[in-house]
Amino acid sequence: MKTMTPAVTLLGAGPGDPELLTIKAVKALRRATVALVDDLVDPGVLRYLRRSARVIPVGKRGGCASTPQAFIHKLMVAEARRGERVVRIKGGDPFVFGRGGEECDALRAAGLQVEVISGLTAGIAGPAAIGIPVTDRRHAPGVALVTGHAQDGGRGPDWAALASSGLTLVIYMGVARLAATVRALRDGGLSAATPAAVVSAAHTPRQRQRVTTLGALEADVAHHGLASPAIVVVGDVARLASRPAAMAGAVGSG
Ligand code: SAH
Repeated sequence: MKTMTPAVTLLGAGPGDPELLTIKAVKALRRATVALVDDLVDPGVLRYLRRSARVIPVGKRGGCASTPQAFIHKLMVAEARRGERVVRIKGGDPFVFGRGGEECDALRAAGLQVEVISGLTAGIAGPAAIGIPVTDRRHAPGVALVTGHAQDGGRGPDWAALASSGLTLVIYMGVARLAATVRALRDGGLSAATPAAVVSAAHTPRQRQRVTTLGALEADVAHHGLASPAIVVVGDVARLASRPAAMAGAVGSG
């Protein structure tokens, strides 16, 4: 299928388990000739690429130096202009803390067409993997998806406002600065007894979780070695987390 204008597909691969890919994502993977892949993307997802497809890893390595964003933009533009069918594969959803918006802007500015394929975001599918419905109406009027790791020089979330909002807080990239986040939420008025949960590597064979309280969160995360990638949930909905035995069916075979 040739298009006149070079095109790039930004594709959300979901949180891990390849069975959580959308049908649209699988079709785009099968068409692609070049794939630029973030390192949070489960290797199982790449099985849907053609054998001949070129895979270019462009992710962050353990939160250290990432491939500079400008270089990724240039690479996508160059490959698409050469006539390659380019997919940019991102973990979760491309528009949730995935820089998908920036990439769309850069591609459109270069005159390319962009197709965006949504994926299941870790902040909703991760808690769900341990039985937490993030907007359960008995417990919260809604949910805030926030980053625990503001861009250098950028504005972080207004933790005091969030603390008093009554919303479920779903914190992405929250492990590295957990101590500061917990302190800010406590300063904002949330009690130490506020239910909290952490799910690490959700929907992968390495998934681990802990249901706790805001007061014990930091010690629990450290003690149980719950590492990035992890989603932190703060709010009454965390009470609804299932017991491990009831969760067996929630995690796919990966
Ligand atoms: N676009 C992604 C988020 C990218 S930011 C999405 O929509 O899910 C990276 C952060 O996402 C990680 O630091 C972690 O907080 C979260 N994350 C991604 N995959 C995860 C997984 N399988 N389990 C738990 N958290 C995950």
